[in-house]
Amino acid sequence: MKALVLDAPGDEPSLTLRDVPVPALGPHDALVEVAAAGLCHHDVAVMQGLLSRGVKQQIILGHEVSGRVADIGDSVSSLEVGDSVVSTLTTFCRECQRCLHGMEYRCLQGRGIGHTLDGGFAQFVCLPESSVVPVSMTADLDPASLYACPMGVVLRALQDVAGVGPENTVLVTGAGGGLGVHSVEIAAALGARVLAVTTSPDKAEKLEGMGRAEVIVHGELDFSEIALALTEDQGVDVVIDTVGSALFQSSLKSVTQFGMMVLLGEVAGGETRVNPAEIIFRDATIVGSSGADRRHIVTVADMVGSGAIRPVAFQRFALEDAADAYRLMRAQKTFGRVLLVPPSV
Ligand SMILES: [Zn+2]
Ligand SMILES: [Zn+2]
Repeated sequence: MKALVLDAPGDEPSLTLRDVPVPALGPHDALVEVAAAGLCHHDVAVMQGLLSRGVKQQIILGHEVSGRVADIGDSVSSLEVGDSVVSTLTTFCRECQRCLHGMEYRCLQGRGIGHTLDGGFAQFVCLPESSVVPVSMTADLDPASLYACPMGVVLRALQDVAGVGPENTVLVTGAGGGLGVHSVEIAAALGARVLAVTTSPDKAEKLEGMGRAEVIVHGELDFSEIALALTEDQGVDVVIDTVGSALFQSSLKSVTQFGMMVLLGEVAGGETRVNPAEIIFRDATIVGSSGADRRHIVTVADMVGSGAIRPVAFQRFALEDAADAYRLMRAQKTFGRVLLVPPSV
């Protein structure tokens, strides 16, 4: 099969599309013919060499995978050849304390797909049955690759971590990015008032076009000032921060009394200074969130099916042009998620 192999990370990573053996199928595995795979900041960080812990040598990246089941192992009972499916982000055991407490995405035995195990930047990927989630046969398969990450990740943050509902105002930083755009979609679908922050006038226009949020362009005027002005000086109940250190201070200043800031992304790999009084006197909660369970992916699929939300895929690139997609991501020129499409089998 053709697969995109990361031979050497770096500023200009060595990525080669080449022939590798189709992975061997175990009794509990499914072989998935990949339709598309999202290019995540996680992949970009591994390609750059910023993230290397636990990464397999000569990895086939890609954890945002959709496709059709091409073959199943002898013990697989929940899948059939031809099923439309998406992958979870990690494997999991269903037996450890974390799995038993609804945190299978942080399973103690879990291994990252497209990180420790080969992922979806290939014609085929081999996954354990439990990591394969069937979706509707009528679902548009390419954008379905985004059901787990970023969409399931965002759903978990908004619903489970922040408990967002119609009574809340949610501010999203980096609203034009993959996590950001889907935070806007899903927060709006949960009934919240949404303020979408971007630094790019071009992305602001696209966000306006979605009709899901009041759009704030962060520039000369700090976005926290505008957020306060839009909320009668109260601030917002929840900040979904997908940018991290670069906007940390402004994000915190936007939070209302008893409000919450959920950290989902760190784009610059930097650090920030915190004045503890800003947290204390707000009685604020600052919490990190990552990952999604099977149930989040199933809920996302249902919400897409009912028309409540939609995946936002900016552009499709052939797998062999992954380096171009990588450069576009690094230049922050993308809106929503970029999809990589392998050559047809
Ligand atoms: Zn991802
Ligand atoms: Zn487990």
